[in-house]
Amino acid sequence: MKAALIEKPYDFKVLDKDIPSIKSNEVLVKVHVCGVCGTDIHIYEGVMPWAKLPLIPGHEFSGIVADVGKNVSDVSVGDAVAVDPNITCGLCRYCRSARRNLCPRVESIGVTRDGGFAEYVVAPESQLYMVPKGLSLDEAAFTEPVACCLHGITRLSIRPGEDVLIVGAGPIGLIHLQLVRRAGAGRVIVVEVNDRRLKLAEKLGADLTVNPSRDDVVKAVNSFLRGKGVEAAIDAAGGSNPLTLALNCLEPGGRLLVFGVASESDVWSIKPYDIYKRELTIIGSFINPYEMDGALNLLASGALDVKPLISHVIKLEDLEKALKREIPNTIKVLVKP
Ligand SMILES: [Zn+2]
Ligand SMILES: [Zn+2]
Repeated sequence: MKAALIEKPYDFKVLDKDIPSIKSNEVLVKVHVCGVCGTDIHIYEGVMPWAKLPLIPGHEFSGIVADVGKNVSDVSVGDAVAVDPNITCGLCRYCRSARRNLCPRVESIGVTRDGGFAEYVVAPESQLYMVPKGLSLDEAAFTEPVACCLHGITRLSIRPGEDVLIVGAGPIGLIHLQLVRRAGAGRVIVVEVNDRRLKLAEKLGADLTVNPSRDDVVKAVNSFLRGKGVEAAIDAAGGSNPLTLALNCLEPGGRLLVFGVASESDVWSIKPYDIYKRELTIIGSFINPYEMDGALNLLASGALDVKPLISHVIKLEDLEKALKREIPNTIKVLVKP
């Protein structure tokens, strides 16, 4: 089979490999598409300490079951599936208290074991979710990122009528935008440096879009909301600058969701007095414990539309261009191996 391998940072090749063998509890999935995520770029650049190289990356994929191990009971050859890439132990205190995303033994398909940028990928049966009828496999490849966003929104617990700021209008920001709309947000403001992405944010329901390379974000937010800030903000960009921007737009008592993936060495400087005096809450969100079904429901019902987010469908051979950020005007790039 054809597979994309990252041997070490910045060392990428497409090669021919044997189709991997499966254990008794595992399933062989023929990959339909696999989405390129910021995490894949971080792995390529060597700034994702969690990754185990050499590695076939890719954790946002859908496909068709091609073979099943002898103890697999609920999945059959030919089934259309989405895959939760995060395999947890089921034994630790986090797994046993409904917080399995915090499992210290988590293994992730496409991060710590071979992933979906290949013609075939292996996954334990426990990680598979049936794609509902009517949902395309291209859309089903968004199940994992949507599930992670759902977890974030749940952590942020938006109450109907609250004003929300989202920093970053890449795929994650645009998914969050639709989810906070569904959650009953009052006015939604999206901040992004790329005008093309801002246009799409407007189409998908943003009430105000601000480009921080042109406008003062805090001023724009305060004037749009007539002197107030937002009750909740989501960093969907990653790093200290977007976090500071989001924090500065919060109302007293406001909540900030740290969702975007910062590089591991990034350091954020904040004023403790500001957190204290304005009673701000900073909330983290990491992968997703149990949101895959909910994500598939939202996608299948049309409550969440990811089709406008697909900007490119490329071949495996062109993946390195995407990892090098050389493809212009991307939103979500899907790879068809
Ligand atoms: Zn991802
Ligand atoms: Zn565990």
